[in-house]
Amino acid sequence: MQRLEGKTALVTGASRGIGAAVALRLASEGATVVVNYSGSREAALGVVEAIIAAGGRASAVQADVSDPAACTALVEGVVAEYGAIDILVNNAGITRDGLIVRMSDEDWSAVLNTNLTGVFSVTRAAAKHMMKARSGSIINMASVVGISGNAGQANYAAAKAGVIGLTKSVARELASRRVRCNAVAPGFIETDMTAALTDSQRDGVAAAIAMGRFGTANDVAAAVAFLASDDSAYITGQTLAVDGGMTFA
Ligand code: NAP
Repeated sequence: MQRLEGKTALVTGASRGIGAAVALRLASEGATVVVNYSGSREAALGVVEAIIAAGGRASAVQADVSDPAACTALVEGVVAEYGAIDILVNNAGITRDGLIVRMSDEDWSAVLNTNLTGVFSVTRAAAKHMMKARSGSIINMASVVGISGNAGQANYAAAKAGVIGLTKSVARELASRRVRCNAVAPGFIETDMTAALTDSQRDGVAAAIAMGRFGTANDVAAAVAFLASDDSAYITGQTLAVDGGMTFA
């Protein structure tokens, strides 16, 4: 028996990058996966097709996590369709980088609304069902930047630091109901999000990583699968850095 057999997982922002790798990994370990996306419908359907082609179960659902009502509808839809939500991976995220003195209100709010309020909204809706079921695992995608800060990413770092605080609070609130909540803090991972870095920026980043290389989406997905499974049954409120030795936090 696979370790996620019989579980239903919702992965937000699973059309591309880390979220897509997480969806594929959880499905490969036996979970039925709901692939959430915001705008990339074709890509999300591609992830679902890949899961089904490999013998798994999945469906795609559009919802913008920066819209609280859409988050509630997303979770209620999962529970109506599959009868439960056992694993929630709050992965959807964006960047709107800029130096603090030039950062617009829009760029601040867009990042906070998606990367932090989105995690709150989906978690609030899912927690209700998990508490009732006396079972569940929530995994929030933070970032090493939420631990160390980063010039040019005040909005993103603030949101990710917020995600870490939210994770610890939810872990404390829900532990007695046997619901766990942890965060994963990736370092620099090869996805669309980091594709815009110049060669010299990449060299600078790689020099700060003990293992000397960027990570892959699969590196992060393996950590998420561990936290989703009973292999991590006694772990809650933690932030697991998946960064090749960058923060040592
Ligand atoms: P990515 O390749 O840019 O993919 C972002 C995903 O989020 C897409 O599936 C996108 O869906 C979805 N998304 C964006 N806004 C959304 C919204 N409002 N509602 C629902 N879905 C939304 O990013 P990534 O690199 O895989 O990053 C995934 C997560 O890891 C993010 O939380 C990011 O902050 C975090 N992270 C990444 C790195 C890295 O180095 N890549 C490092 C640390 C942390 P659509 O295409 O449909 O919009």
